[in-house]
Amino acid sequence: MTQSLLPIYELADAIVAACTSQARLLLSAPTGSGKSTQVPQILLDRGLLGDGEVVVLQPRRLAARLLATRVAAERGGALGAEVGYQVRLEGQTSAATRIRYVTEGILLRRFLTSPDLAGVSAILFDEFHERHVYGDITLARARMLQQTTRPDLILVVMSATLNTGAVRSYLEPCPVLSSAGRQYPVAVTYLPRPVDARRQPIWDTAATAFDQLVRDGVEGDVLIFMPGAYEIMRTIEALGELTCTRGWSLLPLYSELPPAEQDRALRPAAGRKVIVATNVAETSITIDGVRVVIDSGLARMARFDPHRGINTLYIEPISQAAADQRAGRAGRTAPGQCLRLWTAAEHQGRAAYEVSEIRRIDLAEIVLVLHAQGIDDVRAFPWLEAPTEVALARAEHLLGDLGAIDSTSGQLTALGQQMVAFPMHPRYARMLLAGQTYGCTREAALIAALTQTQDVLIRRPPRHVQAARDHLLGDRADSDFFLLMLAWRYAQQHGFQLDACQRLGIHAGASRQVTPLYQQFLHMAQQQGLTLNERSASQEAIRKCLLTAFIDQLALRCDEGTLRCDLVHGRRGELARDSVVRQSRLVVASEIDEIEHGSGEINVILRLATAIDAAWLAELYPEALSERTDVAFDSSGKRVISTRLTLFRDLVLSTKFTGTPPEDAAAALLATAVLAGRMTLKQWTPAIEQWIARLNSLARWCPELGLAPIGLEERRALLHQLCLGSMSAKEIADKPIWPVLKAWLAPGQAACLDAYVPERFPLPGGRNAPIRYAEDTPPVLSARIQDLYGLTHTPRIARDRQPLTVEILAPNQRPVQVTQDLASFWQHTYPALKKALQKRYPKHEWR
Ligand code: ADP
Ligand code: MG
Repeated sequence: MTQSLLPIYELADAIVAACTSQARLLLSAPTGSGKSTQVPQILLDRGLLGDGEVVVLQPRRLAARLLATRVAAERGGALGAEVGYQVRLEGQTSAATRIRYVTEGILLRRFLTSPDLAGVSAILFDEFHERHVYGDITLARARMLQQTTRPDLILVVMSATLNTGAVRSYLEPCPVLSSAGRQYPVAVTYLPRPVDARRQPIWDTAATAFDQLVRDGVEGDVLIFMPGAYEIMRTIEALGELTCTRGWSLLPLYSELPPAEQDRALRPAAGRKVIVATNVAETSITIDGVRVVIDSGLARMARFDPHRGINTLYIEPISQAAADQRAGRAGRTAPGQCLRLWTAAEHQGRAAYEVSEIRRIDLAEIVLVLHAQGIDDVRAFPWLEAPTEVALARAEHLLGDLGAIDSTSGQLTALGQQMVAFPMHPRYARMLLAGQTYGCTREAALIAALTQTQDVLIRRPPRHVQAARDHLLGDRADSDFFLLMLAWRYAQQHGFQLDACQRLGIHAGASRQVTPLYQQFLHMAQQQGLTLNERSASQEAIRKCLLTAFIDQLALRCDEGTLRCDLVHGRRGELARDSVVRQSRLVVASEIDEIEHGSGEINVILRLATAIDAAWLAELYPEALSERTDVAFDSSGKRVISTRLTLFRDLVLSTKFTGTPPEDAAAALLATAVLAGRMTLKQWTPAIEQWIARLNSLARWCPELGLAPIGLEERRALLHQLCLGSMSAKEIADKPIWPVLKAWLAPGQAACLDAYVPERFPLPGGRNAPIRYAEDTPPVLSARIQDLYGLTHTPRIARDRQPLTVEILAPNQRPVQVTQDLASFWQHTYPALKKALQKRYPKHEWR
């Protein structure tokens, strides 16, 4: 088909009008309409770019290259001339380039060197429905630029789906154009029964499904979606074993494939073809002639891995929306069909849409790039969708620990400035820079690669394998990485052969994956001008490098008997039993696993540990070390002790007893211990409590006396005074209390106490009856009936302001009546009571 017949050309005039009038456009049209290949050309050919270029942002490297190749061919030029592309580690562009396909990080970093994006006339945000975090941020930065110094900058957001609500209001005012496109119906079918992926791998399920479809006589080419390169190769193998694929071309398509092979998947083939692709074929790339889609329903998704503190690619089920996009690939040129390798019931359980990346991944790299662009307050950044506070705080903490931003001012440091140039997670940037410092760049790159794959050494191998491993690799080292490095070298020397690897319990597949990652890290180190060490570095150098990169996971063993550790930032964990650094007191862990038991209890296991020399902390992090004297009440010894603590950030590295604690601090701690009931003072008798109750009552009843009541704080002060000069429970156990208590009152006040709130009350019969005082109930006078004869009215104390509650006792000392109205008692209650009691106690006097 000639390009001008593509559906997007129906909108060409409207696109030009929107870009001219508003410089903003939201464009949605189905896959294959011509958005990615034609819109940049329309802008260029209609003169909207002036002398500048259009940058087309792609979420995938593979798509960037393929699109550039295609558009260059359409325009009859060489790739890298008028049309070029630029992705993380490669690219083809020149001074003549006017249409530039880039992956998302590239443009965001370009703001660093050219804050006004000089030379860029338009930015196309392609595949925006995928909501990759770099796309979000770049859009925000571009919008800021357009609102300030570059109102002429054209922004076009493009998407295959119509779900554009949030972006639409974010870009307001912004014209919206959409095209229904041409789409034929696609019949979707599901598996009748769920398949257990552990019993039957997904590639076998796909091959079986393919076999059946071909027998049923389907027409056209077939597109199979698989999550990654490995699954794609296994699928191709499985398909190759089928007799029905004879005469078909079996074509893989994924980003690590050599470019020539990628191109082959898109070229028309002589016979029929089956393309096995990652989700690059979901919406980014259109392959003509496809009538059948077989969907594994899986994709590799970037997600924060809390164990390793980095982003990892996990294989996960795709959303319903993504599955619909994939199915749509079968209906481009004629009615098609799509077989989903999961059941209809499982489909109902899937998420409607993908969670946007900003809610899934670790933001350290993003926050660092923003800081480098002068955005120190990331919370005030105009996010399209704000990340969670937890994710932001985590990113800032890590950047602080790594020394990229100043923890107090929040500003980028010189080191952070260096780190931001590395197109990778800041932890790895720090590791490579430390590699430069200690002369172990190569080892740093290898270790970085080793942390990105599955463990190269299989855990808990059979005994004879373990013995062979120990024999060849040793079982003592100062870092678990030293073993991994040896294992990887061994695997490499044996060409990653399965049997050779199995002999030592080495994961051949994981080891193989390490190699290209290692090469990538080396390449990036070189690109940043780091020196690759010729000779292998000393172990000490490598350990220091590891310390620097994982300083946020420094751990100290709690004791010698167990593997328990305290970590910086108030965390705790346990060193892995199979770690080779079990002898060390101080380690850094590169991986922290949380293992949840059935009981809900969580075990935090520290893996990939490296022994650390405490002296290195003083050498490398003098500012993070501090000393503090701690005075504490030691519950077991029941005494106050003074310790000198050495800390790395909040982690206590060492504790030393030091001389006698300061008196004042000791007294305060003893007072607290007494108040908390952790020890008792023998002399603090009920009489003391009575005295305090009398004082507090009088202070309330007669405020004019100016007495200071004794509340909780005053008790603490009294105890403090009492304990001054003492260091232990033993020393204060027998201390007399009265002298301190009496000194509480001013001269003369003691006399008031005796006068107005007496301990005893004189009764007519000559006895002195005790008064019980309490904080919140009226005072009680307790007396036998016989002693109360002659007392006609309720007695009062405290300058007659407070009536006493009279507790009237029978001759056996049991209360028979409690009253605040004695007159009424004598008159109404007493006569009957007297009769009853007289019978029981005839010998007593009864008036
Ligand atoms: P959209 O971005 O809207 O999905 P594209 O611009 O990628 O659409 O593609 C438009 C059309 O151009 C496709 O339908 C396809 O026919 C063709 N096309 C695009 N890229 C290639 C390619 N690399 N090889 C062959 N045809 C291609
Ligand atoms: Mg496209």
